[in-house]
Amino acid sequence: MTSPVWHPFFQHGLNEPIPLVRRAEGALLHLADGGTLIDCISSWWVTTHGHCHPRIAAAIAGQAGRLDQLIFAGYTHEPAEEVARGLIELAPRAADRDPLAHAFFSDSGSTAVEVALKMALGYWHNRALDGLSDPRHRILVLQHSYHGDTIGAMSVGERGVYNAAWSPLLFDVDTVPFPHEGKEQATLDALEAACAQRPAAFIVEPLILGAGGMLIYPPSVLRDMAAICARHDVLFIADEVMTGWGRTGALFACDQAGVVPDIMAVAKGITGGAIPLAATLATPRIFDAHRSTDRARLFYHSSSYTANAIACAAAAANLAIWREEDVLGRIATLGQAMADRLEELGAHPAFAKARRLGAIAAIDLITPDAGYLSDVAPRLRAFAHENGLLLRPLGNTIYLMPPYCLDADQLDHVFAVLQKAGEKFGRPA
Ligand SMILES: *Cc1c(COP(=O)(O)O)cnc(C)c1O
Repeated sequence: MTSPVWHPFFQHGLNEPIPLVRRAEGALLHLADGGTLIDCISSWWVTTHGHCHPRIAAAIAGQAGRLDQLIFAGYTHEPAEEVARGLIELAPRAADRDPLAHAFFSDSGSTAVEVALKMALGYWHNRALDGLSDPRHRILVLQHSYHGDTIGAMSVGERGVYNAAWSPLLFDVDTVPFPHEGKEQATLDALEAACAQRPAAFIVEPLILGAGGMLIYPPSVLRDMAAICARHDVLFIADEVMTGWGRTGALFACDQAGVVPDIMAVAKGITGGAIPLAATLATPRIFDAHRSTDRARLFYHSSSYTANAIACAAAAANLAIWREEDVLGRIATLGQAMADRLEELGAHPAFAKARRLGAIAAIDLITPDAGYLSDVAPRLRAFAHENGLLLRPLGNTIYLMPPYCLDADQLDHVFAVLQKAGEKFGRPA
């Protein structure tokens, strides 16, 4: 029987199998065929504490019987208030910077990014109406970035085969080169020159570019980039959709650099990964530029499910876990355990460029056919599946981004399979 489901980022013409998953707990997925998989990528970077976390599941069940959904334009509910307060309390802060003080809800990382871009241009638009500035429109981006799959989010992301069909719809941006090791100053110089052209905002994935290949750069560069933007009054937008909720070893990657962005997008792990929700946080000046007695200046953005009460209840439970449990300690232990095993794997001649940040580890398989469309990634994925792992390599880059509950035995199994994969698919140069 053929299924009517059209899967994302999936080529149905290749007739690859589509496993049916019935149940999940912790780091494990239970398949309909009786097998299990270790979820090495947190079901695409969302599951933080583990699947079906009892506190989050209970919060969802309780809220579903109390208040499910409410129009959020001019109405409010306790879970949203609680999550907004919690986000503001936990957001990056610094003595010499305006704090993130306002939270705007949406439903996905892509919409959180769209909202961030709309806030930035709305800020400059409303300032121009007051004669306080020229309108600023252009967006600066970092090379190799990924910010989502809606039109605006694609516009500020790397261009390639995955968005070529829509390139006529994408708006122009100015791109700053990625700060590869040894080339950091070139990035900062390019940013300085681009900022002199008075763009509206610079959007970055802090410390690590996820979909771009798990490319890591140091906190000092993030700090310098933010300082350059501040000096030129260019709004600094941090896309913490992937990096947030502990992945990089701090609650937010910006914390590791002492950076407070003007606008920050969060999603993925905001509900512990149980249910969709996103938020875009903003400093008072962004909010105040939209606050007026003039209705024309309100922030024109909403989706039907903005701040859905069930999703907010899940997020509130997640925030409580962060406040009450030593999640960062757990991440540090997991990160160190990954580092030890990664060092050993990195010594194998089939691999290169072992790298790690927090509980994210990545390594490149040496193959003659690297690149996003090379079939090494699907072959690796199939091999991982046969060996009980859910992996989704980016071209020849294999990465792990597991839920924080992954234990040492599971980690041993994961690295044993990676070693076998290197032996089977790697071609030492
Ligand atoms: C996943 C991701 C997004 C998009 O989030 P969705 O919830 O998939 O729309 C945006 N930015 C970054 C950095 C991401 O990793």
